[in-house]
Amino acid sequence: PDLPTLTPTQARAELARLAELIGRYNTAYYADDAPEVSDADYDALRQRYDALLALHPEAEPENSAARAVGAAPDSAFGKHRHLVPMLSLDNVFDQAEFEAFISRATRFLGLNDEQAQALAFVAEPKIDGLSISLTYENGQFVRGTTRGDGTEGEDVTANLRTLKDLPLQLQGRAPELIEIRGEVFLSKEHFLALNAAQEALGRKPFANPRNAAAGSLRQLDPRVTERRPLSLFAYAMGFCSEKITLSHWEYLEQLQAWGFPVNPLSQRLEAASGAEAFFDRIGQERAALAYDIDGVVYKIDNLTLQERLGFAGRAPRWAVAWKFPAEQAITTLKTIEIQV
Ligand code: NAD
Repeated sequence: PDLPTLTPTQARAELARLAELIGRYNTAYYADDAPEVSDADYDALRQRYDALLALHPEAEPENSAARAVGAAPDSAFGKHRHLVPMLSLDNVFDQAEFEAFISRATRFLGLNDEQAQALAFVAEPKIDGLSISLTYENGQFVRGTTRGDGTEGEDVTANLRTLKDLPLQLQGRAPELIEIRGEVFLSKEHFLALNAAQEALGRKPFANPRNAAAGSLRQLDPRVTERRPLSLFAYAMGFCSEKITLSHWEYLEQLQAWGFPVNPLSQRLEAASGAEAFFDRIGQERAALAYDIDGVVYKIDNLTLQERLGFAGRAPRWAVAWKFPAEQAITTLKTIEIQV
């Protein structure tokens, strides 16, 4: 509320202060897997930064941490450059913001109203884990990396090999070279069990399943990762040496045929008008799901349109994350034992 009253000099100083805080919280969250503040507080900080930047675009700090994706790879791991960058997603929090996303995309594509109405989407639960990139050469798993700063990730191949869900060899015909993206996560019950075990050993518990999954995968000793029951859903493509499908939905089907777990709740929507009903339904199912989700991701299904839309800043123009309100409680499941 105080933002419009700030002078340009005050705005510059405030933007610099916020960017520095964002940078510090990013390091704690992405590099150390130990957030210093809640996601709601972090999001509020970012919103303040974005609102102030919109009023004073000329006062943007140099190398602002707010522009960054994730955090630089930890030097303890080998570094690997993604063939296609791994970016973030823009967020929306209500129907009006979702519609604004649709308008921006359809205007960018120059679609008329009728065409815009007929635009198909794929809706997928937004899994609260960490994204990974899996490289396959002629169907063989050769490398797995974290997102890192979006350009370079940490090589966690040996750790990923311990995941039961990860196909080491793709079934059927595979392209010469492909990067497959997905989310590594811990179920709610395994998260609770892991934290109970951490506490029993006098170690700091993880703040949430996302940090627990990241902390479990980003281990220098793959035997530690092996003991953590990490799961995987595949949901996106990075680089591919050939065109495989025309739509994202067909790509998800191909991922399944290759042997990847694909979230069974994902659904093709014939039009954006189905988005709200899907969001409400997933919201109702959320508490009963075995894993944590923090929203729904909507992706324009047609890959040619995705290509035309491309990226803006740190996120694609063809997808958006519709987030649940931060305060919604998460129902926990029975606790089970786990060895750390
Ligand atoms: P994000 O988590 O908001 O969205 C992008 C990510 O969504 C992707 O990288 C991917 O990992 C994930 N995802 C899950 N399911 C997906 C699906 N089906 N399709 C595509 N992607 C899917 O992006 P972000 O930039 O990594 O992080 C922002 C979030 O992290 C915010 O919620 C923020 O609150 C939190 N954060 C918190 C702190 C803190 O200090 N508490 C610090 C930094 C970030």
